[in-house]
Amino acid sequence: MGMNEGLGKFIEEAIMYNPRNVFSIHTSFYNRIITPYDFDGLTFDYNCASEDKYTSFKLDLSNRAEIDTQFEMIAYGVPETCVKKGKLDFTFHLVGKCQSCNDYHVDFLINVFTVDSIPKEWVNIHASIYRSDKDPKLSVPISIQKVGVNPEPKVDFNKIAMKFFDRESGNWYHKGLNAIANNYGIGSLAYFRRIIEKELMHIIKEIKELPDSHGLEIQILLDEHDKHSSVSTIYENIYQHLPKSLKSLGKNPIKLLYNQTSEALHSMTEQEAMEKSKIILQLLEFVIIKINEEKSDIKDLKEAIKGLGN
Ligand SMILES: [Zn+2]
Repeated sequence: MGMNEGLGKFIEEAIMYNPRNVFSIHTSFYNRIITPYDFDGLTFDYNCASEDKYTSFKLDLSNRAEIDTQFEMIAYGVPETCVKKGKLDFTFHLVGKCQSCNDYHVDFLINVFTVDSIPKEWVNIHASIYRSDKDPKLSVPISIQKVGVNPEPKVDFNKIAMKFFDRESGNWYHKGLNAIANNYGIGSLAYFRRIIEKELMHIIKEIKELPDSHGLEIQILLDEHDKHSSVSTIYENIYQHLPKSLKSLGKNPIKLLYNQTSEALHSMTEQEAMEKSKIILQLLEFVIIKINEEKSDIKDLKEAIKGLGN
């Protein structure tokens, strides 16, 4: 992978608010430290909020004067302003413009850093003594991370689903949606699987309480599951005891969800993981919404009966 291709992909996939999302580069000084100039003209896929679609964005350096001031001397060495406590550490601003409407844009803050100290000869090499044939090798890997974005990608969450989850699962749900919004398939799939692993029993117990499900039979399955959870057939056998609305897919939604937790993540491409994530998301929201509807039906009826008096 060429470095520029790597940088484009980095912008596209980096999850916001995740400072560990770093992209590490070994290069030579002659190829220079990563600067905004390396991003000039790179394209990436992103969500255009004004058109509400994924489309091609292009990084452009329209804030050139600002950049030139900061990086004027970079060809001859690292400016002192880019070094903190002997380590490389500086942040710059990039603008990504939607190529479709040519109007909507996203601002990124990119931080370039090294974990280890950089050699002193990298800093402020004077133009008159700089010789490209005496190129000091970069013995220290350079990392970049995305530390900010404006506007933040809009994440639409389902309020009913969010209410169903506790704070921890709600956080995973939000992060999973965020990862989808950032086109990060494997990341989102990991969060949704974590939700299923934790919430599937919660879902089954909620279903058990619904007026139209076979509560007693489901309790028997739950007792069995408690005894032999490793060879559990509850996911398979619960189907016949579900209320009609949860059978309306024609397939067993509980078993479908359970099956998603078994396939190995590392065998999937980003694309496959993204498709899977979106299906799981729909399925999860479908089940939770149906549970909620079944519950509200009985609540509405109770209210209505109250209105009848004795
Ligand atoms: Zn646009």
